[in-house]
Amino acid sequence: MKISARVGQVPPSMTLAISAKAKAMKAQGIDVCSFSAGEPDFGTPQHVVEAAKRALDEGKTRYGPVAGEPQLRQAIAYKLQTENQLDYAAENVQVTNGGKQSLFNAILALVDPGDEVIVPAPYWVSYPEMVKLAQGVPVIVSTTAQTQFKITPERLKAAISPKTKLFVLNSPSNPTGVVYTPDEIRALAEVVLEAGIWVISDEIYEKILYDGAEHLSIGSVSPQVRDRTITSNGFAKAFSMTGWRVGYLAAPVELIKATSTLQSHSTSNVCTFAQYGAIAALQSPESPGCIEEMRSSFAKRRAYVLDRIHSIPGLSAPTPNGAFYVFVDIASMGLSSLEFCDRLLEEYHVAAVPGIAFGTDTCLRLSYATEMSAIEKGMDRLEKFVRSLQ
Ligand code: GLU
Repeated sequence: MKISARVGQVPPSMTLAISAKAKAMKAQGIDVCSFSAGEPDFGTPQHVVEAAKRALDEGKTRYGPVAGEPQLRQAIAYKLQTENQLDYAAENVQVTNGGKQSLFNAILALVDPGDEVIVPAPYWVSYPEMVKLAQGVPVIVSTTAQTQFKITPERLKAAISPKTKLFVLNSPSNPTGVVYTPDEIRALAEVVLEAGIWVISDEIYEKILYDGAEHLSIGSVSPQVRDRTITSNGFAKAFSMTGWRVGYLAAPVELIKATSTLQSHSTSNVCTFAQYGAIAALQSPESPGCIEEMRSSFAKRRAYVLDRIHSIPGLSAPTPNGAFYVFVDIASMGLSSLEFCDRLLEEYHVAAVPGIAFGTDTCLRLSYATEMSAIEKGMDRLEKFVRSLQ
């Protein structure tokens, strides 16, 4: 069969593939410790589940407006205004099938064939592939642990060419967990504005912060920056709603019209009753407590994982102050990240994602969004494997 060149050039998502493999091994009765998927291991808060059930009972089971239920768009705009100081109205918001579709929509609506998109590495696995699917050119800017895996304004400036359309910013970052400081965000915003390019700000991990880290939405820096920003977010990570597939983007109205046209020919509206769960997630007074409960569990696990990493000779990782990932340097192990993770899974039954999926072959990503007993057992096994290589 001849698959189109557009799709043929793109490999499947490695994060999803590895978590599927770990699940399949578990289903066969193998005791796998999975640090693979970036998926909170908690249930969705009960009040959110109840709201969706109520919506089902009330018959919210039909097609809805492509850009989302008006009440949800309104609630998202209010959240962006009050929590992120982003001056968006409901008409600036589009509800999408997860954060993933919001990014895909924005890239497809902005990128013409040959346009360049600046993606700092390590990057989340799907950014460059989405750019390629839009026939754009990902321009990868590598960063290292020495700069905490952050792109500097100078490096961003140097990567900009007359063909640059977009810059993808992800803070807190998947896969490194690092959070740009407000000053760093402001400095990047200046470069974006000066160059007249667009920025996609993927803020899906904004609620998962540690050690007093502060999240600043780049679009809040000034109205001029906001008008060149697409803010992407969703419910999966903050509210443990991964399978619900509810995300959103916020952007100038003209762009929202374009992304809605696109979505009207692909997936139409997001599952109607799921959107009612999302409304409850944003509006219920119970939500902040649920978020904090999950965040504080993540904080304990992060401390444990970092302690263990630092105690294993040959491994190192910068301290992440957001998300639920640790990006571990395995450069001294003498294996590629793919070989390392393959052997770790096959021989020690520990699933981790090779750094090559994120454009950095000297590292691997551990997601600690899994229960403590599996983390302890998994770290013991990782230590055994590393020692066996030395
Ligand atoms: N974003 C999560 C991860 O990086 C979920 C899987 C995916 O969509 O990539 O593991």
